[in-house]
Amino acid sequence: MARHAGRGWYGRVIGAAVGVTAVAAAASVWTAQAGQNAPAAPAHHSAAKTVAVSPVIAHSSDAGAHAVNITIDDGPDPTWTPQVLQVLRENGVKATFCMVGPQAQAHPDLVKQVVAAGHRLCDHTVSHDTGMDHKSESYQSQQILDAERQITKASGGVRPLYYRAPGGAFTPYSRKLAASRGMRPLGWNVDSKDFERPGTEVIVSTVRSELANGPTLLFHDAGGDRSQTVAALRTLLPWLKQQGYGFGFPVR
Ligand SMILES: [Zn+2]
Repeated sequence: MARHAGRGWYGRVIGAAVGVTAVAAAASVWTAQAGQNAPAAPAHHSAAKTVAVSPVIAHSSDAGAHAVNITIDDGPDPTWTPQVLQVLRENGVKATFCMVGPQAQAHPDLVKQVVAAGHRLCDHTVSHDTGMDHKSESYQSQQILDAERQITKASGGVRPLYYRAPGGAFTPYSRKLAASRGMRPLGWNVDSKDFERPGTEVIVSTVRSELANGPTLLFHDAGGDRSQTVAALRTLLPWLKQQGYGFGFPVR
């Protein structure tokens, strides 16, 4: 599976904020209508009410200025997700899991465990195509909405609250679409580069040294041997607490 690339999506996004208010307003109208037994509710509309959120890429934490958001991408995976869940549980930390739709579909037990432990779900598309920002709107829509449906079904009806484009390949269209479905576009500030398997100590030192970049930290629980990720979290979570950091979810 293609790994995340720390591409310059900040620049891409800034020019796209125009017109956002109108789209959000339109989405709210749609939501209100859907709540009134609208006959044409799409098949992927879950029982839980969908409320449109901001299409601006989120980075900050709902737990305040001195908190971090742990985000775990590319799973669920039957080997690594349970180990990540255990480390989080041992440290009393809640995280956000950005799941690939077919993997959620293949491992609904893991998706339910993630939800039951109080973590949040995030839509990470169907195919993890880091070039999806260069593809058609219909392709982007399929990638986002099919994964949304797969994850929601696997969880037993708990919806993903965020959308993270693979490799940060957001487009104005995909951000607005996800936001209209109640999924806040989610960025990151610190790439642990755990995907490169540089060694546990390097992952730990990368996070420590880049923590000043912002609160949203990126790790992975699939796509290969993630034992270094598990070990790094085992060191980092207590260290973050010692430094006085709290743990939260990305803002919505
Ligand atoms: Zn990913």
